[in-house]
Amino acid sequence: MIYDPPLSYVSEEPGGPWSNYLEQLDRVRPYLPDASGIEGLKRPKRIMIVDIPIRLDSGDMAYFEGYRVQHSLARGPGKGGIRLHPAVNLSEVMALAAWMTMKCAVVGIPFGGAKGGVRCDPTMLSQHEVERIVRRYISEINLIIGPKIDIPAPDVGTNAQIMAWVMDTYSMNKGRTVPGVTTGKPVAIGGSLGRQDATGRGVYVCAEELGKRLNLSMAGARVVVQGFGNVGNAAARCFHRAGAKVIAVSDVRGAIMNHRGLDVPALVQHVAQTGSVVGFPEAEPLDGMALFELEVEYLVPAALENQITERNAPRVKAKAVVEGANGPTTPDADDILGRHGVLVVPDILANAGGVTVSYFEWVQDFNEYFWSEEEINARLARIMRDSFQAVWQLAQERKITLRTSAYVLAVGRVLEAKRMRGVYP
Ligand code: GLU
Repeated sequence: MIYDPPLSYVSEEPGGPWSNYLEQLDRVRPYLPDASGIEGLKRPKRIMIVDIPIRLDSGDMAYFEGYRVQHSLARGPGKGGIRLHPAVNLSEVMALAAWMTMKCAVVGIPFGGAKGGVRCDPTMLSQHEVERIVRRYISEINLIIGPKIDIPAPDVGTNAQIMAWVMDTYSMNKGRTVPGVTTGKPVAIGGSLGRQDATGRGVYVCAEELGKRLNLSMAGARVVVQGFGNVGNAAARCFHRAGAKVIAVSDVRGAIMNHRGLDVPALVQHVAQTGSVVGFPEAEPLDGMALFELEVEYLVPAALENQITERNAPRVKAKAVVEGANGPTTPDADDILGRHGVLVVPDILANAGGVTVSYFEWVQDFNEYFWSEEEINARLARIMRDSFQAVWQLAQERKITLRTSAYVLAVGRVLEAKRMRGVYP
């Protein structure tokens, strides 16, 4: 008998990211040689909800809600980003933390899974206000983070500068400099070369590996990228450098397209100057929804969760979806894509390049010895290729999707760790 009551604090509608995660977990059960203990992965290990009062530049007070969720610490310290976004809520952070557990296990790096977030709109706040939010948030969750406990990193709405404030705030509270408390820091304070582009690079390596197995040449391959933040931007540059044609991209403000392929370096410059892909001279505007319907080799969702759903999945004409974002495809959409022969390289594999180089950064911080960018990129590519091959091979053997295969490997590793450690006390 297992007493496994549903969690009373889940705060989302059906179809939200946490329910999607639970469904993904249910789907792997039949393929696991030993699924005992899997119900434990439906319950985050530890959750902290904090109030973040700050003084705005105007002198008025504002209050924000912050979270840190540690989904599993079975394989090592918690690891995962901090998200600043108006849609952040507890269930979303729970799902993102669980996906981190799976991601670290898929690529075999010694971390558990965690995630944090503050429900706020950084685009409506000044830099100073964001800094005060981040510093107060870190002070509040100070008790449960640390280089051997739980290590934050950038995510949607956060960047290297914000990680510098994370590192500084934690260090000030400790009375000594602790670079290993966070990753994705600026290189000047113990960050790693190659971390900035690592997620996008990993996405590209997965696309390339898939292409080899499908006999798709990268030269001239058509690519669509949804989202032009840290992940989409770096991925687009990698595809472009390899001779692929990035024909359409989008961001929160809109989408653009050029059938002959966008001049990605020029686009990157345009975004740096104007803050958006919109208005890029050598492209036509495109309806954001039409982005998913273009006939391409690779579709890269690199924005938020629940973008490919049962509504638009039937119209996806890509040969493959390579998930740069976390949770961009719903389980229903997965089924539809599968029936239409669209291969999906799942998020927990495709976007694991970021946390992989975070791991390198953490190791370098401990050793106080830093590697060259070539070495980092080579090690990253090796881990991505090996992980891709393991997922691909199992999918072929068992005749399952790449997502199910990735989950079989990840869940198997986490459950093995949990079983070895046993139940305390
Ligand atoms: N936020 C990134 C992710 O979702 C990176 C996490 C990390 O480096 O710890 O994978």
